Amino acid sequence: MKIGVLALQGAVTEHIVSIEKTGAQGLPIKRVEQLEEIKGLIIPGGESTTIGKLMRKYGFIEAIRDFAGQGKPVFGTCAGMIVLAKRIDGGEPAHLELMDITVARNAFGRQRESFECDLEVKGISEPVRAVFIRAPLIKEVGPEVDVLTVYKGEIVTARQGNLLVSSFHPELTDDYRLHQYFADMVEYSVAANQ
Ligand code: GLN
Repeated sequence: MKIGVLALQGAVTEHIVSIEKTGAQGLPIKRVEQLEEIKGLIIPGGESTTIGKLMRKYGFIEAIRDFAGQGKPVFGTCAGMIVLAKRIDGGEPAHLELMDITVARNAFGRQRESFECDLEVKGISEPVRAVFIRAPLIKEVGPEVDVLTVYKGEIVTARQGNLLVSSFHPELTDDYRLHQYFADMVEYSVAANQ
């Protein structure tokens, strides 16, 4: 089973390493044609404005909307979560507009630019190690969104059908259980489409 990592900008290699720990094959995705080879896609952290610009330039906006529209799972981490959101707080234009959430960028404040902690994630039995770097948070969710983690009153992990998002970077630790959770979503969607 091949899972792609959008490789326009950001933390690509680390996601591939985590994906391969689940037993799936990780593939950097640089061109839209490569989406045909994969069953699930990760949009990594980085800088969402830059990733959004490059996605427009290389035709990824329509291509990823199609991909997700076929029921194939997409996982956005940090900047990837911002890129998947329908709304960005403050009125900045949204990118893929796929997931019914409103995100606020750099929402943990300068004094807490980066930090690590253990988080409960609904559906995963033991707490998951999470690294936050200038992280966004989810300010509002639509009725179809399942909240998976609330940290200090803020939503930082959520799912809407085949879409999964986290404010933090699960790829920067040895803990690959959120990648395993995503790989299970991908496996389930492959089985359901056969
Ligand atoms: N602050 C970045 C943004 O707003 C996201 C940070 C990250 O992906 N680590 O795009």
